[in-house]
Amino acid sequence: MDLTPTARVVELLPKVRAFLEEHAVPLEPDVARLGFSACVARLKEKRELVKRLGLFTPHVHAHDGGVGLTFLEHARLSEALGWSFVGHYLFNCQAPDAGNMELLSRWGSPAQKATFLAPLVRGESRSCFSMTEPDRAGSNPTWLDTTATREGDSYVINGRKWFTTGADGAAFAIVMAVTNPDAPPHLRASQIIVPTDTPGFTLVRNVSVMGHAGSDWDSHSELSYEHVRVPVENRIGDEGAGFLLAQERLGPGRIQHAMRWIGIAERSFDLLCKRAVSRELSPGKPLGTRQMVQDMIAESRAEIDAARLMVLSTAWKIDRDGSHAAREQIAAVKFFAAGVLQRVVDRAIQAHGALGLTDDLPLAMFYRAERAARVYDGPDEVHKAMLAKQILKRYGLVVGRDG
Ligand SMILES: Cc1cc2nc3c(=O)[nH]c(=O)nc-3n(C[C@H](O)[C@H](O)[C@H](O)COP(=O)(O)OP(=O)(O)OC[C@H]3O[C@@H](n4cnc5c(N)ncnc54)[C@H](O)[C@@H]3O)c2cc1C
Repeated sequence: MDLTPTARVVELLPKVRAFLEEHAVPLEPDVARLGFSACVARLKEKRELVKRLGLFTPHVHAHDGGVGLTFLEHARLSEALGWSFVGHYLFNCQAPDAGNMELLSRWGSPAQKATFLAPLVRGESRSCFSMTEPDRAGSNPTWLDTTATREGDSYVINGRKWFTTGADGAAFAIVMAVTNPDAPPHLRASQIIVPTDTPGFTLVRNVSVMGHAGSDWDSHSELSYEHVRVPVENRIGDEGAGFLLAQERLGPGRIQHAMRWIGIAERSFDLLCKRAVSRELSPGKPLGTRQMVQDMIAESRAEIDAARLMVLSTAWKIDRDGSHAAREQIAAVKFFAAGVLQRVVDRAIQAHGALGLTDDLPLAMFYRAERAARVYDGPDEVHKAMLAKQILKRYGLVVGRDG
């Protein structure tokens, strides 16, 4: 396994770091205080600068207008971008657009690519992914209420979704809906593109998450679909292939989150160490002289390094063998890195005392936004169960979904 950074990554990482320090970090307090939509105009100016650097939409193939980094290269870049909570947005590789772009790049028809993918890649529009429903366990995506009924050359969609990230201001949603109710569970749903100006599409509210309803890309909406009619050509891939496409989309998406989390953890670790040497408990006795604080630093260093190696080796395997072959590693890294992230951010907050809970530092925002890391794209328990079942299968025990 060769995890050595490629020449182009070695060249671009210092540029990215310098760009973030100059253009992203200074914007963070305003984004935290005023909200995302109040800062969108300034963020868009910065996105233009990224285009000039030639680093806009790094993860998409060059033939679809992106930079065309490999997965392993993107893992390195994504860690660097995670340093700032607007890093991925500025470089146009933020979730959920990143996954939607990959989905359309791989499975979209030429017409879908021209109408929906190309503006996303150019950063002229945003999108969202609408699968989870308030009345159904999101942990079981084969069990959905939302239906898409075929009427001639159209689908008519009815249902309710929530936690659709970035729906506020998105040009279109990719909706998971049941098209084939009598098929086996894994073949019932399809993924259908719904422009958000289609009659019957309603953004009910931006759900308040830990006291923060958010706005624009930085939001998670509840949506209602009432007799939403779209042409059959808006379906991505085959009818009934929605679950399989979701697996294709979410596998790489999960590790892209993990790549970003390493960056957040490194930023938090940096703040933890700076605090340990600067905050004096008494004259000449900074926090770092205390063994309990040293323990926080040592545990954090070891955990971040372990998580990074897991991320890089999984990215390497995805590049070589595809995301299906790497599904066990993806499951392991999803829950392990999410736990590392949460612990490191928490330790950094603890070491800062009251200051750690304020919005004067990014730590509280990291904590608020990323407690969800152990839930979104599948809760810890689902990934642990999936990994353990695959391992047990090799020992002769086959465990079904319900035990
Ligand atoms: C910030 C955020 C952003 C999101 N963005 C999107 C988005 O853009 N699009 C979208 O469609 N969805 C999105 N989601 C939804 C997310 O994917 C779901 O919340 C997730 O899949 C879990 O589904 P659920 O919330 O319905 O929890 P449930 O399925 O009801 O599970 C509840 C809890 O039960 C436990 N549990 C579940 N399954 C098992 C099991 N097999 N064994 C043991 N315990 C189990 C876990 O502790 C889990 O947390 C987002 C969620 C969050 C928090």
